[in-house]
Amino acid sequence: MKILVLGSGAREHAIILALLDEEAGHEIVAAPGNAGIAGSPTDSARGSVTTIALDPTDPAVVTDYAREHGIELVVVGPEAPLVAGVADALRAAGLPVFGPNREAAALEGSKTFAKRIMDAANVPTGRAVRAAELDEVARTLDEFGAPYVVKADGLAAGKGVLVTEDRDAALAHAAHYLQQGPVLVEEFLDGPEVSLFLLSDGEHVLPLSPAQDYKRLLDVDQGPNTGGMGAYSPLPWLAGATNGRGDVFGSEEAFVDEVIESIALPTVRQLAAEGTPFSGLLYAGLILTSRGIRVIEFNARFGDPETQVVLPRLATPLSGLLLAAATGGLGGLPKPEFRPEAAVTVVLASEGYPERPETGRTIEGIDQAAEVPGVHLAHAATAVAADDAAPGLVATGGRVLNVVAVGEDFAEARRRAYDAIGRIRLDGGQYRTDIAARVAD
Ligand code: AMP
Repeated sequence: MKILVLGSGAREHAIILALLDEEAGHEIVAAPGNAGIAGSPTDSARGSVTTIALDPTDPAVVTDYAREHGIELVVVGPEAPLVAGVADALRAAGLPVFGPNREAAALEGSKTFAKRIMDAANVPTGRAVRAAELDEVARTLDEFGAPYVVKADGLAAGKGVLVTEDRDAALAHAAHYLQQGPVLVEEFLDGPEVSLFLLSDGEHVLPLSPAQDYKRLLDVDQGPNTGGMGAYSPLPWLAGATNGRGDVFGSEEAFVDEVIESIALPTVRQLAAEGTPFSGLLYAGLILTSRGIRVIEFNARFGDPETQVVLPRLATPLSGLLLAAATGGLGGLPKPEFRPEAAVTVVLASEGYPERPETGRTIEGIDQAAEVPGVHLAHAATAVAADDAAPGLVATGGRVLNVVAVGEDFAEARRRAYDAIGRIRLDGGQYRTDIAARVAD
């Protein structure tokens, strides 16, 4: 198949590696891609990858390219093209696209919209109040009590949410975002977090394997929030977790089935009933509270870095799933299958990330890292050095690359991931040392 993948991060690299892994010989074009994607090992049996300098957020440019080059499937990686209406334009042109139209993608972009859909569909989520004035914020904070949760309404690149014990800090955060519009004050939900990806064709959903990510910069969940510093999948502890009604789930599958029945299907049906069907990747950010599963957020695309640990375990060909979601054919398909191995990813970030990442520094040791058994790299912000005297890769952003390791169990996957990341040299580079530690003993 001729597949166009929009985006330039480690998530898109992971998607492309999964497509190449099928050995179906796909012709993949990444727009714009990155140095890791461009350097993907290809041979005629595994297919080919090229990168093109095309603006993935320009609906007309993407549609013209796809039409002129006979693209059979467009996979939208990040949210920006969705918000810009790229999926709408492709769909209007009759081209298969994996990714929701702009109105359905508001499930991610507008927390108010997401809450309204969840209320209408009876989907369990935290109580929340939308406040336009600071005194209303203060009243609601006092009503819900500490810890306090304040959220900016629109996309805020991961910075819009503050969870704090400090009432003054909660008020200051609210005051800052109130300049842009109303904020949400939400009740605090206590429990472990789960990311679950669900493929949707607008009517049916199929689940991928659950994952857990690490949002804070530093070990033991200290430091500022980031885009994500690591992840692991599957979640062995889910089988023993309680469902809020006094029973244990008993298996990961039972947990996933409950999310499908009580969260994913009602949400997808509500969106369809409102004339905004959701076709693409429904990412449910969940908290498993003592009272049951609650949604903390929906995203409208694959999560980064969870994708990097979910897709390497996928045994069902990814392209068939994405095409079926894009063309309304998920209904007849069995659930995707996953290999029983453990997957861990550790993110290498630049010095200064997340506030002011230092860029332009050279990265060495990548080949040595990839020699560790079970390890591959997913690039996020790398480029080939412009300097002929010092060829190699340089870091071009905050999250630079992901070391991804699979193993028979988490102890092995973790050992492999940290052996590999220890071989990479990036001045001032930072990474967490406790990714998946809780499941590796
Ligand atoms: P969000 O952007 O809504 O996913 O929030 C980012 C992070 O803030 C989540 O991954 C949680 O760790 C935390 N968070 C958000 N909402 C809540 C809540 N109601 N209770 C506890 N933690 C939350």
